[in-house]
Amino acid sequence: MRTALHPFKNESITVTQYIAEFGAKLDAYGNKNLRLFPRCPACGNNMYTKGETNPEVDGVFSHQPNCNGFCPLKESAGKCYEILLPIDEDPYKTKALRSSFFKHWKFHYNLMKSYLKVLDIFDFIKLIKYADKNKIWSYRHIEEKQIPYIFLVLKEYPPVGNKNKLIRKDWLRFWFDSRVRTLEDLWIHTNKDWILIKATYANPRNGKTPNYTQLKDTEIVTVNLDFLNKEEPILSSFVINQMHKEFNKELE
Ligand SMILES: [Zn+2]
Repeated sequence: MRTALHPFKNESITVTQYIAEFGAKLDAYGNKNLRLFPRCPACGNNMYTKGETNPEVDGVFSHQPNCNGFCPLKESAGKCYEILLPIDEDPYKTKALRSSFFKHWKFHYNLMKSYLKVLDIFDFIKLIKYADKNKIWSYRHIEEKQIPYIFLVLKEYPPVGNKNKLIRKDWLRFWFDSRVRTLEDLWIHTNKDWILIKATYANPRNGKTPNYTQLKDTEIVTVNLDFLNKEEPILSSFVINQMHKEFNKELE
């Protein structure tokens, strides 16, 4: 990864910035410098630098080889969050949340797109159907403003090309921090202070889903929970038509 978390500030740093602040791996006499460790933004474990003594390469950060404990970044990018069936469902709340989502679908689509650069409307439609099938609307503590963030972590986003131009060159995957292993954990284990991480992977040449070895960088996503209070976004007629074709009844 090109960036990690600063040893004690919640800021991303590159290897160059880390060296500038904490010194190089070895001091002038070739002895190991005692430095504070940078941290992994997803699991909080210590990270170490790789390649920093080689002036030919930009150094990267990596987990300690013996580091144990769950880290979402060490999972394959294709791994999905576990969806538990909601317990103690409130059918009125479920229905109200789903209809409110449809009332504001443009806000949700637009917010997701802002993190992804491009969002295929058919992918968005699939996510809604997935939420229906897995009863995501029925989670007792779910709030409408959390839906697009949950949608973001539900699938991976491969590079997107248009003719011979790449619109999104890298593979993207979103993760909640390591406290969240199932969607239920969002409300059970985080007390709403969850962190969302955007991981960028190089597109594997073998056409497979990338894994940790292709991980290029991570970024802590600035979560915007106020997006429903903004002006309604203007979307293309193609996008709007597809939504109406699919969810005619809901959008009436
Ligand atoms: Zn980690």
